[in-house]
Order: sequence, then C-alpha cells, then structure tokens
Amino acid sequence: MEKSGFNTGLLHGKTSSGYSQREILPPVSQVTAYAYENMEELEKVFAHKSMGYAYTRIGNPTLAAFEQRINELEGGAGAISCSSGMSAISCALLALCESGDEIIAGKGLYGGSINLFHDLEKLGIHTVFADVINRENVEKLLTGKTRAVFGELISNPSLTVMDVAGAAEAAHNAGIPLIVDSTTATPYLARPLSMGADIVVHSTSKYINGGGNAIGGMIVYGGRFNWDFEKYRTLTEFRKYGKMAFLLRLRTDLWENLGGCMAPVNAFLSYIGLDTLGLRMERICSNADKLANALAELPGIKVNYLTLKDHPYHAYVEKELNGYGGGILNFRAGSKEKAFKIINSLKYSLIASNIGDIRTLVIHPASTLYVHTGLEEMEAAGVYEDTIRVSVGIEDPEDLIKDFTEAIRNAEIEE
Ligand SMILES: *Cc1c(COP(=O)(O)O)cnc(C)c1O
Repeated sequence: MEKSGFNTGLLHGKTSSGYSQREILPPVSQVTAYAYENMEELEKVFAHKSMGYAYTRIGNPTLAAFEQRINELEGGAGAISCSSGMSAISCALLALCESGDEIIAGKGLYGGSINLFHDLEKLGIHTVFADVINRENVEKLLTGKTRAVFGELISNPSLTVMDVAGAAEAAHNAGIPLIVDSTTATPYLARPLSMGADIVVHSTSKYINGGGNAIGGMIVYGGRFNWDFEKYRTLTEFRKYGKMAFLLRLRTDLWENLGGCMAPVNAFLSYIGLDTLGLRMERICSNADKLANALAELPGIKVNYLTLKDHPYHAYVEKELNGYGGGILNFRAGSKEKAFKIINSLKYSLIASNIGDIRTLVIHPASTLYVHTGLEEMEAAGVYEDTIRVSVGIEDPEDLIKDFTEAIRNAEIEE
C-alpha cells in the first residue's frame, strides 16, 4: 500500500483479489446459513477449529471481503462490518463501557450519535462533551471513570477538526483508547490509526459506498492498545488475546449477540463503490472548494468550509487532511424562510437527508436532523435556524456555482 498511490493500492491491494473461483469481485453470498457434509465438520467450525462459515450474522465471505479491504486501507489489525454506522458506533462503545463508566465526546457530532449518547445515559453510561477533541480538552475531562474518548475527525456538519495525535496522547497517558469516526474524512483524506487513534468507525453508507444505495458501518481496530483488564471489565473474559481482546470481544461476543451484521448485498454494493473512492473524493473536494469560494463572495452569505482561509480549523487541512477540505460545506442564509426558498429553487441538488452521494444533496438541518435536539446542543453542533448543509457531489462545478448563485439571488429578490 505504502509503495503505490492511493488508487493503485486500492484496486490492486492484497485484499482486492483471491476469491474462491478467481472472481474479480467477491461473490455475493446471499444466504442465511451454510450446510455441511456431516456434523463433525460443523462442530469444528463452531469450536473455531476449522475455518468456515455457519450463519451470516456470525460470519459471511462477502462481508469478510469488504472488511479486509477497509482494514487494509486504514492500516488496521482487523475490521468488523455492521448493519449501519450507528450500529458500528454503538458496538464499539458498548464493547468498552458498562454502567458507571464515562465517555468523553466532541460536541459537534452527527445528530444520531448525540442521540445515542442520550440513550447510553439510560444504561448508566455518562458522556461529557468537549467543544472539540484535542489534548487540552481530553486532559481536562478525564476522570477515573473514563473508558473511551470519541470524536469525529471532521465533524458533520459543524466542521470542527479533531487533534488526533494530541488527543490520543492525552488519552493514552490515562490508559484510555481514542475512537475516531472518520466517515466524513474517508481513508482518502486521513488514516487516523496512523495518527495515533486506536479504533476507527465509519458509516459506509456515505462516501465509501458513494452511490447512495446501501446502509452500512465498519469498525477498524489498530491492534496496538494495551488493555488494563482490571479497568476494562467488559474485556476480562478475552484477556488471553492481549491487545486483540477488543476485536475478539466484538467478533465472538457483543457484535454477534447484538445482531447488527451488514447485509451481504450491501457489502457487495459498498465494495464496488469503494473502488472509485479516490476519484470521487478528488472531484468532490475540488467542487466543494470552488463552490465555497464562490458563495463566500456573495453579500450576506456566511460560508463554513475548511479550505477557506479564515476558517478556524484551516491549518488542519494540511496537517491532517491530506490538503483537502472534504465534501461538506454549510452556509447561513439569513433566516429559515430564506434557507427554504434557496433549497427549493436549486435545480441540481436533491433535498435529502444523506451525505457522501455522487449527487449534490442539500438539507435544512435545524428542521430535520436536529429537530429532536435542544437549541443549545444544536448550536453547539454548528447548526443554526438559517443553516443550509450541502453535501457536494461530482457534477460539473460551473453548473453547481451557477445554480447556487441564482437560487441565492432569487431568494433575495423575493424578500
Ligand atoms: C451518517 C453518519 C453516521 C451514522 O451512519 P448510518 O450509516 O446512517 O447509521 C455516523 N457518523 C457520521 C459522521 C455520519 O455522517
């Protein structure tokens, strides 16, 4: 992987071939169960004494192919696919935390993750929020009960950027792992494990799939964390696996029992989507940069995009994001009414609650994604009454710029 460029490595990596009948893509093993010649063989599979699949919720070759490929891209020691991004996040956190434990999380999070942290309160797992995950904030919020630090590398939609190396060091000094949700960055912009993170989670529903045709999630473990088994009681049973205890706890226990496996056909669709991740991200980031710069010229429009010179996290574009700003930009229209008018008159954007599609998608987050979130929490996540979120696609940039500019002008004239 290191020796070739991103796209070459992606298409010709170790895990991109070697299927049983020399297929160029993994076959879709769309079955519930696998039948054996005799009972002895199945007994061996269940006892992990011979390699084999028994039941798709526990293991499936199409899922394994997708897992291995993402694992290779992220430089992990193992990956586990899940039914959705939320399933991946819940599994990763529940594998580490029990009642009485605490999590430190960034404030500018995906709405679903904020809601999950509320749910975890009901299980006795408390979350303390930092404005952004960096060294100082982690050091400040660590307690004897902390069991995980969680943040989005580029938060969706607030666009704050984690200081991965600083946060990892602060967490590691206290014996705590760092979990990074890298959905919006994708492995094309950053490989958090190489920056010090211990666990990476993805919603593959977004940029990894890219075509908007399958929900999915992934947990990738770096394999380097030294677990203190007195402290991590959820892992005690797996102590004989040492650093790999986290992965075994998931694979043979929690992940299997929560029942959130990815559908084989979704793994296949996301696998073929992944093939073009590099090309898509290149175009998406270039389009987003051009559109953000064009919108920033318009009077009365406040644009939030990472490559804009005055962005508070601008320095991280070079430091952590491979020189790119990602595919999401936000702008404030002035009022909710104006935001709705602009959105409704766009010709080349779909009004949809998703990101990472090849088609440009727009939404008014305050009235949708954050409608069940309190005002204070919503604003802390960088969402205001007049915010429009744009997930930039791969259309021709001139068309996007013209479309947005005209929609904004028209909304002004109507006022
Ligand atoms: C969408 C998203 C999720 C949740 O993923 P699903 O696949 O929808 O469950 C988690 N984190 C981020 C940053 C997301 O954008």
